[in-house]
Amino acid sequence: MSDSPETAVLDRDGLDGLIKVLVAGGRTVVGPGVRDGAVVLTEIAGADELPFGWGSELEAGRYRLVQREDGAAFAHTSGPQSWKNFLHPQREKLWSVDRSSDGALAVRPGRAQQPSYAFLGVRPCDLRAISIQDRVLTGGHYEDSGYRARRSGAFVVAAECTVPGATCFCVSMGGGPAADAGFDLALTEVVDTGGHRFFVRVGSEAGAEVLAHVPHRRADAGTETAARGAVDAARDRMGRAMPPVDLHALMGDSLDAERWDDVTSRCLTCGNCTMVCPTCFCTTTEEVTDLTGDHAERWQRWDSCFDLDFSYLHGGAVRSSPRSRYRQWLTHKLGTWHDQFDSTGCVGCGRCVTWCPVGIDITEEATALHDELAARLHGEQEREETKP
Ligand code: SF4
Ligand code: SF4
Repeated sequence: MSDSPETAVLDRDGLDGLIKVLVAGGRTVVGPGVRDGAVVLTEIAGADELPFGWGSELEAGRYRLVQREDGAAFAHTSGPQSWKNFLHPQREKLWSVDRSSDGALAVRPGRAQQPSYAFLGVRPCDLRAISIQDRVLTGGHYEDSGYRARRSGAFVVAAECTVPGATCFCVSMGGGPAADAGFDLALTEVVDTGGHRFFVRVGSEAGAEVLAHVPHRRADAGTETAARGAVDAARDRMGRAMPPVDLHALMGDSLDAERWDDVTSRCLTCGNCTMVCPTCFCTTTEEVTDLTGDHAERWQRWDSCFDLDFSYLHGGAVRSSPRSRYRQWLTHKLGTWHDQFDSTGCVGCGRCVTWCPVGIDITEEATALHDELAARLHGEQEREETKP
């Protein structure tokens, strides 16, 4: 074992060793596992709990697990959850307050201590999604202190993509199946005649420190070439693509498009797309009390721009029609997010496509808006040219 290599190779026992080292270091290790017919993110204690031999078949509104003969652990694509379920949880108690018999109030924080997470198997699109949420939740005036505490202590093991799904389109959003930044260790799974192994790249000092305690071997040229070749090949096998246009400008030019009527004749405004999206961050707060009135709690929970109440101001909801709510979601995600946070709000993970119950496809909607705009501009130009 070398002291602090920049690359290395783990076998299946080495992967198990990595998880055990992280657990022994006091971390809550979260990784993919199979439950209820899907790959979910769950607390794991060893490599045996990973989804070896499971892949997934995705389409708009459809998700199915399939068994794979190669026994790969990371050949599945995004499931219904993302890392925001842990960094920015669905429900979180912010504080509670108790009134004692003498009327004194004692206020307590919701959580005395945040967990120290290690995330195993973070896809490159989700690395980008985490960096977007970092900017949103810790980069401005209104910091989410719980998020910051969980995020700053998190150890990230990326898993590069070698088997993209039919709803993936990260390349057309400026990303790709390779992990570029934002990880402590990055794994690329290789299954070929040389065996089943994981090519490892070190991304931080913390990563090098952990790797030093994990059984590994020096990276060989054959494994590295196979790993890089598999990731390069994945880049050309994206299931979908966004139209290659300025999406920010397209959204701004499409506010009155007829396509909004078409898509909202199908949209159920269920909000599934916002729940599964790894970058959506909106929350609301609510108070609960017990029957005596001596104990009260304030909770933060995810909210969705598809909810009628989301835009409620005194007197009524600003976005009262499904059309206005879908338009808000898409124009924010692909357009005004740039103005607010200096990046797109979409990393092309495809979750909103897969988990939409009626199969609404964000790439199809953006393409239709682009086609409608192009036809409108073409018509205007023709009218201009034929003016007497
Ligand atoms: S686009 Fe699909 S997932 Fe999103 S609110 Fe509409 S029906 Fe639900
Ligand atoms: S908008 Fe859809 S494809 Fe884009 S990041 Fe969110 S869930 Fe993924």
